[in-house]
Amino acid sequence: THSTAEQLSTREIQALDSAHFIHPFTDHGDLATRGARVITRSDGIYIWDSEGEKLLDAMSGLWCVNAGYGRKALAEAAYEQMMTLPFYNSFFQTTNVPAVKLATRLAALAPKVGDRSFEHVFFSSSGSESNDSNVRMVRRYWDLLGQPQRKVIISRHNAYHGSTMAGASLGGMSGMHAQGDLPIPNITHIGQPYFFEDGKPGETADAFGVRAAGWLEDKILEVGPDKVAAFIAEPIQGAGGVIIPPATYWPEIQRIVDKYGILLISDEVICAFGRLGHWFAYERFGYKPDLVTFAKAVTSGYIPLGGVMVGNRVAKVLIEQGGEFNHGYTYSGHPVACAVALANLDIMEAEQLPQRVRGEMGDYFAKRFLALKDHPLVGDAETCGFVAGLVLVKNKQTKQRFNPDDAVGMICRGHCFRNGLIMRAVGDRMIIAPPLTMTHADIDELLRLIHQALDLTQ
Ligand code: PLP
Repeated sequence: THSTAEQLSTREIQALDSAHFIHPFTDHGDLATRGARVITRSDGIYIWDSEGEKLLDAMSGLWCVNAGYGRKALAEAAYEQMMTLPFYNSFFQTTNVPAVKLATRLAALAPKVGDRSFEHVFFSSSGSESNDSNVRMVRRYWDLLGQPQRKVIISRHNAYHGSTMAGASLGGMSGMHAQGDLPIPNITHIGQPYFFEDGKPGETADAFGVRAAGWLEDKILEVGPDKVAAFIAEPIQGAGGVIIPPATYWPEIQRIVDKYGILLISDEVICAFGRLGHWFAYERFGYKPDLVTFAKAVTSGYIPLGGVMVGNRVAKVLIEQGGEFNHGYTYSGHPVACAVALANLDIMEAEQLPQRVRGEMGDYFAKRFLALKDHPLVGDAETCGFVAGLVLVKNKQTKQRFNPDDAVGMICRGHCFRNGLIMRAVGDRMIIAPPLTMTHADIDELLRLIHQALDLTQ
């Protein structure tokens, strides 16, 4: 047995790690040879490993630590709530104060857009669970409206919507589908709006945006408009490599979902809570979702919490016509998670983190990151709020891509990792989503580290 107080060497931890811990999304043969890097502490925008090496965490963990590390107020909120009421469920006619307060607060933060408002919240513990709940709610909605044949949910290739059976099915990751006999029935996919890859010679980004949105209409007509229940999409594809759609994309998607009366699900697990400079990302793009998935940064990742903002169109039917909805999780509205979320929102409001991202700090970040376009290895670079991506190319003039076998992204990531920077690789794309607390000096340091890694990759 190993108590938490026992001091273990890095090698001992790595050996126990290999012997007992199945990591998510990991090749364990590879892990056993190299040994996992043991991350032991954190502060601000930095993490440290067990050997005392410091890394600038430009991924905010997994896109979640928006308020940065080392926030005592969040620990205190958890401690106080654990001492008062560590758990009680909200099944069977009970509720708890943090969950009620958080639902009320989120409802106030979610802007009304057109005829959509968000007065109701359903809680879970993760993005994956929330998307499972979306599938259940969408199907229940159409059943209650007497259209049970509307079952098909359309998503996009390369989307990431989680790792449960429904989450991975909604997602468009072929590697995940191949291993899980997925997707489950009644989920189908269209192409992603990736201009660099799929734009035709001479086509403008705006023209491509309309064309890519048109793939949704093609799919609706192929499936049969009366069979389609919903379209789900991330405002910006995150895990797919930070694919930022052209400005014309979302308005055209809105026109199409309106034309066919289908529900729109905005998966904002990455994009909400200031990441794109707003509390919710649909505001940035101006579209009108019916359901909004959130998780991660609602607590800045300090404790698991997720959920769905349920728009008036769906809430009205589910609540007023539905009777009991046979769905829920033990931890729906967990009081400790909700208390931490409230304290996190306090920080974000007091420090105006969303405003920072859409103001001068966001402009500075964009200016410095976009200057990477001049690097000989960079084919294109894009930012939106505090999310950014670049594509590594073999030949800058012809925009010739690397072969997947070149593993150029992994090589670049390795240079980052060894030199004090967490940057993620998705194929030949390098992506970041740093904490929203970054200062000018932090951004300068981040760019210095990225330059260093790119120079080493050449
Ligand atoms: N949806 C999106 C857009 C995500 O990026 C993620 C995770 O990265 C998920 C859903 C799944 O969230 P979780 O890992 O909390 O289940």
